[in-house]
Amino acid sequence: MIRTASSIRTLIQSLRAISSFSSQIGVGARNSYNSGAVSSLQQVIRPSTYGEDEYADVDWDNLGFGITPADYMYINQSTKDGEFHQGQLSRYGALELSPAAGVLNYGQARKSLTSGRQIWIQGLYEGTKAYRKEDGRLLVFRPDQNALRMKMGADRICMPCPSVDQFVDAVKQVALANKRWTPPPGKGTMYIRPLLMGSGPIMGLAPAPEYTFLIYCSPVGNYFKEGFAPLNLYVEDEFHRATRGGAGGVKSITNYAPVLKAIARAKGNGYSDVLYLDSVHKRYLEEVSSCNIFVLKGRVISTPAAIGTILQGVTRKSIIEIASDQGYQVEERAVAVDELAEADEVFCTGTAVGVASVASITYQGKRLEYKVGAETVAQQLYSILEGIKSGAIEDKKGWVVEI
Ligand SMILES: *Cc1c(COP(=O)(O)O)cnc(C)c1O
Repeated sequence: MIRTASSIRTLIQSLRAISSFSSQIGVGARNSYNSGAVSSLQQVIRPSTYGEDEYADVDWDNLGFGITPADYMYINQSTKDGEFHQGQLSRYGALELSPAAGVLNYGQARKSLTSGRQIWIQGLYEGTKAYRKEDGRLLVFRPDQNALRMKMGADRICMPCPSVDQFVDAVKQVALANKRWTPPPGKGTMYIRPLLMGSGPIMGLAPAPEYTFLIYCSPVGNYFKEGFAPLNLYVEDEFHRATRGGAGGVKSITNYAPVLKAIARAKGNGYSDVLYLDSVHKRYLEEVSSCNIFVLKGRVISTPAAIGTILQGVTRKSIIEIASDQGYQVEERAVAVDELAEADEVFCTGTAVGVASVASITYQGKRLEYKVGAETVAQQLYSILEGIKSGAIEDKKGWVVEI
């Protein structure tokens, strides 16, 4: 470990550009690394220093789903006991991270010591969005749900976690500080990305000694390059996203790299994304790489039950409630891949995609097609959900947090 005393905070915001950060790695890195850490820790950003302009200089009409970093990020570093106290806003920038950080190596010991097999990389992420209302206020959709899910995930991979109040407060602070990066109403949203990671240095199999909770933001448009065009999914029966008893039910960073190959292959063949099956029977639907799936037949909407292998989306949960309110019968159960042949509509849900209609699903060489367009149930549910999120429809459920 190269750093000492109070400066052993292994992950903090750096005020330097990434290029200068990388040039420090090597001979002589030690001193500047230290002083940089200390000076940036002292750099607390106060509301009076936020940008004054109403809007950042962004081409709002051509937003995709890429990173356009907003000015500020929020960082809260745990104590050695894993307690989160006061966090702070700082300028968005590169991080200093110990090469021995738990998240870069391996994580928690509990499982590994007993089974000798399972090793968890300690990293979780979350995602929510801020909408700019016509009156200029910002609206964030159900951040408490993201906070609870992060808690659940942290528990699953044995990390301490900020409280729900700390999480929601941090989301509010960082959203407000980056307000000028929130697109005009109707042009997009500001994606808010919380992370929690084992950032303390660790050599053997033991809990990481420190954890970092961080949030950064980026204005975004549509997730899929198809925009609002319906999706064409490919059912994968070789690669699996999650297994029984694994961590597919939490937003652990370990769940994403393993499916990149399946996604790349599907995209290479002209599909939008991959629909995964359960790894035991290879017969029941699970979800798409980063969104949940719903199947409509008549007035019945079915979605795979959350039994630990699928991520319990906040959008999924909200759509289940909205669809029930609209008089649909909603079933959370095992949905067999054969049922796809009978479905009228299929759609995906997630913070990034919203509610996206599926035009086709290809399974074992056979392409099934579904109803899409303005008259679909998916579109009806999407309009209600977006209406609530953007403030156009009155929020009777207490879902929207106004800042
Ligand atoms: C984030 C995510 C979802 C969607 O969750 P929301 O809370 O609705 O954004 C669905 N599936 C996976 C695998 C995810 O990572």
